[in-house]
Amino acid sequence: VDGTTTWVYDFSEGSRHQKDLLGGKGANLAEMTNLGLPVPPGFTITTDACRYYLEHGTTPPDLADQVTEHLTALEKAMGKMLGDPGDPLLVSVRSGAAASMPGMMETVLNVGLNDDSVQGLAAQSGSDRFAWDSYRRLIQMFGKTVLDIDGEAFEDALDEAKREQGTDLDLDLDADHLRDVVDRFKAIVRDSTGRDFPQDPREQMDLAINAVFDSWNSPRAILYRRRERIPGDAGTAVNVCSMVFGNLGADSGTGVAFTRDPGSGAQGVYGDYLQNAQGEDVVAGIRNTVPLTDLQRIDAAVYDELVETMARLESHYRDLCDIEFTVERGKLWMLQTRVGKRTAAAAFVIATQLVDEGLIDMDEAVRRVSGDQLAQLMFPRFTSSGDARQLTQGMNASPGAAVGRAVFSSEEAVRWADRGERVVLVRRETNPDDLSGMIAAQGVLTSRGGKTSHAAVVARGMGKTCVCGAEELQVDTKNRRFTAPDGAVVAEGDVISIDGSTGRVWLGEVPVEDSAVVRYFEGEIDPGSADADDLVRSVHRVLTHADGQRRLGVRANADTPEDAARARRFGARGIGLCRTEHMFLGDRRQLVERLILADGDDERQGALDALEPLQKQDFLEIFEAMDGMPVTVRLLDPPLHEFLPDLTELSVRVAVAEAKGGADEGTLRLLAAVQRLHEQNPMLGLRGVRLGLVVPGLFAMQVRAIAEAACERRRAGGDPRPEIMIPLVGAVQELEAIREESERVLAQVCADEGIDVRALIGTMIEVPRAALTADQIAGSAEFFSFGTNDLTQMTWGFSRDDVEAAFFHAYLDKGIFGVSPFESLDRPGVGRLVEIGVERGRAARPDLKLGVCGEHGGDPDSVHFFHEVGLDYVSCSPFRVPIARLEAGRAAL
Ligand code: PEP
Ligand code: MG
Repeated sequence: VDGTTTWVYDFSEGSRHQKDLLGGKGANLAEMTNLGLPVPPGFTITTDACRYYLEHGTTPPDLADQVTEHLTALEKAMGKMLGDPGDPLLVSVRSGAAASMPGMMETVLNVGLNDDSVQGLAAQSGSDRFAWDSYRRLIQMFGKTVLDIDGEAFEDALDEAKREQGTDLDLDLDADHLRDVVDRFKAIVRDSTGRDFPQDPREQMDLAINAVFDSWNSPRAILYRRRERIPGDAGTAVNVCSMVFGNLGADSGTGVAFTRDPGSGAQGVYGDYLQNAQGEDVVAGIRNTVPLTDLQRIDAAVYDELVETMARLESHYRDLCDIEFTVERGKLWMLQTRVGKRTAAAAFVIATQLVDEGLIDMDEAVRRVSGDQLAQLMFPRFTSSGDARQLTQGMNASPGAAVGRAVFSSEEAVRWADRGERVVLVRRETNPDDLSGMIAAQGVLTSRGGKTSHAAVVARGMGKTCVCGAEELQVDTKNRRFTAPDGAVVAEGDVISIDGSTGRVWLGEVPVEDSAVVRYFEGEIDPGSADADDLVRSVHRVLTHADGQRRLGVRANADTPEDAARARRFGARGIGLCRTEHMFLGDRRQLVERLILADGDDERQGALDALEPLQKQDFLEIFEAMDGMPVTVRLLDPPLHEFLPDLTELSVRVAVAEAKGGADEGTLRLLAAVQRLHEQNPMLGLRGVRLGLVVPGLFAMQVRAIAEAACERRRAGGDPRPEIMIPLVGAVQELEAIREESERVLAQVCADEGIDVRALIGTMIEVPRAALTADQIAGSAEFFSFGTNDLTQMTWGFSRDDVEAAFFHAYLDKGIFGVSPFESLDRPGVGRLVEIGVERGRAARPDLKLGVCGEHGGDPDSVHFFHEVGLDYVSCSPFRVPIARLEAGRAAL
């Protein structure tokens, strides 16, 4: 800080491109101000100031002066002074970080009111009641957020006052009653904090600003950021904005609107309006709103201006926008806009609509959707309701099909989910404290609030199924039950089903069906036909364009003909990993046992000879399903004891048999073999290439099966493209030995069959040493496939089968990493080894083919990394293939 830092910007000084500095809200208020839209004047305190505050525990020394300067300008523009007793300027103090964190941080409205200025507000507004109501709202919000007083103290006092008047409606309290409520609230402040509610308007404002800064580190904000992967050190900006009032009577109101339907993407203005209400009432879902179109009847001029403003915003931002607005005595004010959150389906539909409207091009449409969104669209949906009984229909707030046991509090949701139960969280309305319960639940059902209520907004953001505003349900959270209109009582633990796409709620479990998008990938829906809806057509257009742009190839990990065929339908161009171990299970276990127990070369060869035709049949079918495309067959990887009985179990069996007079010879031999093969650390033991080198004839048998299957396919007119992959190589010598053997077998089969089968021979890079010595290894490998599952395991020293359950939740809680490295590639660590492998491998063999076949091949962020380091393809599970195609396209743009 050199004394020249600008900490405060007037709304007219910023732009939408300064989100990092001014926060999303501040940047967009600036943009709207500069577009000439009706924004109440104000200024933004930067995220720099917040970071300074969080770091030093105090505001920058020159912040107060800069705020004074901007406040003076604001007062001049408005022709009023903050908290002036005769005609007070009032301001709101609102949080606004660069990344949207809806409802996670604090806001204080009506700052500037005190015992004197409340009289001025009454005189100016012509309403004593309004003025005293505004004052009690300030003390309530300020008390709760700035002074840390339990909000319930205020709510109880307000309820008490209503009870005394024999009502339960705020509106039945008149000015005198509210004056009395203000006295009670002031007493609460005094009793709780030992001092009076601050009367100095500037002190109110400064304290509110600091409270907003502090709210960056509130527990719920921290939890939200961790979940949304928002950096913890970004800080929030603070917007100080002159107040406009939506609660000045029937000609006033407040609303939230979208320029298109954020649920489906359908065109047309869309939103909720609440007459004679202030600020947060709509978002909080406290009272039920009316549809925005009703505003046309209430005030046609305001409605027209709003619709025109929204059209302008949409063409300016070239995207769906959401807005918050207030009408004060027939005058429209814009309080906020931003590029709006939307469901996954709406994201695709809107992206292609905007292309058709000429606002963006297809490249941009591809950028605007994500693999995560596509993944959401591949979830199943409800079919007919089956035996379940429909209870009601609420609003379709966030799509999906959720089935689970009803629970009525966040704590219960977490508790039940921890026990492995699927639950649906049922609330009258949610608030930010419900976040952990929403995360734990399959879906969320509320009886109050519109599509912009907290439950709806947060659920959409998390991709969680949500039905909101199911008003017919009487939710009784205290007694943990709700009552449906037909009198049915649903208690905690009863199974319900909720459909976030239609808003329907059922008692019982509703069966689910595949998504339309999956049916399109399966080839069951032709995107050009009448069967295809807007969503299927959009997904088709976006993916076709992504395919045209991407450099990365996409293959699948598949080891059955069915999976291979599905992967192909989903757009895979080959198999990047065919694991052969499943082919050693089931009935074949017997043969594997024979192989392991074999006494002498002849017995071993006998066992291998019995396995070979079975292996050959596996490959035949897979080559047929992937005809004309590469199929990378990985030779056997897991340790042999995985195919044998469990040591403890077998020992017990033998002990029991001995007690009864003796175990048979075969069982004793088996036990000896199991004991001989037992390993403390099987993942680091006799597996992969090590097994191939130690068990004579095993890999040769697999190679022969591959070669013979390829010959047979060729004779049948097919075009098999086998690639042979050696797992777990750490040293080139290991690879050389197996390679020589494989080439010998291949040549032999070709000679015997009279067919020239070419098969590339390559290796997995999944041991750190292989990455480091990639130059040597490339001398013997025609391709590398990075096995990032094992590479992650061995780089971190994390047992891939144990750590996620054992302690990853603690690591995630402590922020040691934001996401499991088994899920999303650890770029600086494991990623660096991949880079080294690529560089050294290509340096030694420029035409080396490079791919990845660990789980990361289907993870969006990791796909971008693999594109950046120059791999040729990614390989992932069949269902992730479309996601990899899309992300590979996005990575190339
Ligand atoms: C890997 O280790 O990344 C890999 C693909 O092999 P597997 O998961 O079978 O060990
Ligand atoms: Mg592996």
